Amino acid sequence: MESSLTARDRVGVQDFVLLENYNSEAAFIENLRRRFGENLIYTYIGSVLVSVNPYKELEIYSKQQMERYRGVSFYEISPHIYAVSDNTYRAMRTERKDQCILISGESGAGKTEASKKILLYYAVTCPTNDHMATLGDRLLQSNPVLEAFGNAKTLRNDNSSRFGKYMDVQFDFRGAPVGGHILNYLLEKSRVVHQNHGERNFHIFYQLLDGGDNDLLTTLDLERKPQNYHYLVKGNCPRLSSVSDKNNWKVVMKALSVIGFTEEEKLLNIIASVLHLGNTQFGEGEEGETYITTETQITNLAKLLGVDGAALGEALTHKKLTAKGEEMISPLDFEQAVSARDALAKAVYGRTFTWLVEKINQSLALKPLMLIHPLGCSVIGLLDIYGFEVLQHNSFEQFCINYCNEKLQQLFIELTLRSEQEEYETEGIAWETVQYFDNKIICDLIEEKHKGIISILDEECLRPGETCDVSFLEKLEDTLGGHPHFVTHKLANGKTRRVMSREEFRLLHYAGEVNYNINGFLDKNNDLLNRNLKEVMCQSDNQILSHCFRREEVIDQKRPEMAATQFKNSLTKLMEILMSKEPSYVRCIKPNDAKQPGRFDEVLVRHQVKYLGLMENLRVRRAGFAYRRRFEAFLQRYKPLCPETWPNWHGRLADGVSALVNHLGYKAEEYKLGRSKIFIRFPKTLFTTEDALEAK
Ligand code: ADP
Ligand code: MG
Repeated sequence: MESSLTARDRVGVQDFVLLENYNSEAAFIENLRRRFGENLIYTYIGSVLVSVNPYKELEIYSKQQMERYRGVSFYEISPHIYAVSDNTYRAMRTERKDQCILISGESGAGKTEASKKILLYYAVTCPTNDHMATLGDRLLQSNPVLEAFGNAKTLRNDNSSRFGKYMDVQFDFRGAPVGGHILNYLLEKSRVVHQNHGERNFHIFYQLLDGGDNDLLTTLDLERKPQNYHYLVKGNCPRLSSVSDKNNWKVVMKALSVIGFTEEEKLLNIIASVLHLGNTQFGEGEEGETYITTETQITNLAKLLGVDGAALGEALTHKKLTAKGEEMISPLDFEQAVSARDALAKAVYGRTFTWLVEKINQSLALKPLMLIHPLGCSVIGLLDIYGFEVLQHNSFEQFCINYCNEKLQQLFIELTLRSEQEEYETEGIAWETVQYFDNKIICDLIEEKHKGIISILDEECLRPGETCDVSFLEKLEDTLGGHPHFVTHKLANGKTRRVMSREEFRLLHYAGEVNYNINGFLDKNNDLLNRNLKEVMCQSDNQILSHCFRREEVIDQKRPEMAATQFKNSLTKLMEILMSKEPSYVRCIKPNDAKQPGRFDEVLVRHQVKYLGLMENLRVRRAGFAYRRRFEAFLQRYKPLCPETWPNWHGRLADGVSALVNHLGYKAEEYKLGRSKIFIRFPKTLFTTEDALEAK
């Protein structure tokens, strides 16, 4: 049993605030490394949990383990994701305040696994509500479904989430989970039509081909081999050794039925139709006109999509324009036809994904009878969202992802500093200012109205006449020239350390520099689907599709919001949601790029420690006092060290603590007594006390 563990675990320190040399990144990483070597993958920075992906199953997630963490405070037991789950739950129950757990880290660091463990903890340990007995199951089963449709194999992670997810779990007044709601962010739609070498499309396609029975595949006009589908082989990696598509197919189908899903057939028609779309080929006529060479296949495709075949064929090869109030039809050239086809595949898949999330939400929705209870409900939100991303080539997607991380950092600064300050105030201790980098300047650079990067991008997309990615870059240079966090080849005048190409702009993010290649920014932001394709789709007799492609969209000539602005608005809403809650943080770290157990690549870890802002985090936490503990807990642990407090102290708690620290010889600058807690400035003080206890 390790019940009496406190400041120090068996290996290193279990809380970074107790590191002697808290400014040293090397000491930080050494502590992580040593613990990782002993399978101690969790370490705290105060109340922030740092987790290192073990890449192997550890025996630390059993039901018995869950029991150990129930009702126990952080310092009494080794760090664990269950401790965060339990503390958050208790804070919600006792303080009646909504909570959220923010999980961040780069791809493959273990965010999604962490969020699943938290959900499992609640599903297993919370009481159940008679009316909503199966809610826990439905919450858990939403995961395999979302993963099948939203996850894919990438070079970094065999099961990489290609969308951001925020999930609310609602609890009734007795603490039983009674509802859930999911918000999804920016699905990586481009993956539907293209994958980089060694990567795959979304799991569901391969699962269907591998797991669907013969009759189903015949109905959908599909063959088993993924190699037969253009959209599945761009990455040259149709099969995975680590994943059984066949088994997962069963899991997903079962999960859909637990969720209470009745539209399997329509959904699978859509999935199949995307594959058929990918196999739609074009030829070029003598006069440059484009025609479809795979006519028979278009007929099947139209059947699956529930639309008229001739109209679909026409819409894939022509576009409709309105000029001076008159409609004109003009043929697409070969390349335009290919991109119209791909745009349709992306739109169909992306909108179906959004529909699926809505469906899951309906199944998790709080029943009205829960809402009328006078004590209402409390909420724990879980955010599993892409971490800061720097690839070889960074594009629009990385720009959005990193922008999101800037916003989360803002929130973190705001909330951590605020809560530190609040604690000092409630304890009656003078607040000491903390030096930190406020990244608001970078958020503004990206999102400010009229002169931020997103505004400029939108303007370029809307500007009539010849606009292109290059004109966008020039506009950026004109507007943002002197900005301290914005650099381009021209502006740098050869003065940057790393060479920049003429097609890039560089942002100096709080976590480091990133070069963004502007190619494709305008297209991705526009995210256009030809109007005649929309017209065809909104007449579909597949109800999922007619729900996804609305008639109004065709009639309404107003341009919908562009991708970056949509993302910005959804982030603004997310920040409001998170701001209204009490946050806890889980920071995930990936120990190596080979997905291997036991390997700790220091260079890689150092990058992440930097990107996650962990040193900064530690500095904020250490700026005042390294260690704080409620009087009762402090007395309970150290009372054997002082004759006045041993075996029991009967006076005021504060006086007991006072007597104890006087006896131990604490100097005035080493500690302060608040109203209910003792604050200790240096770890050394505490270690000396711990050693004395051990020697006894
Ligand atoms: P992320 O969501 O951050 O991209 P995942 O949560 O999908 O990363 O984790 C990637 C892989 O790492 C998982 O599929 C699993 O194999 C492994 N992994 C992550 N966390 C753990 C853990 N706590 N225990 C064992 N394996 C883990
Ligand atoms: Mg994930």
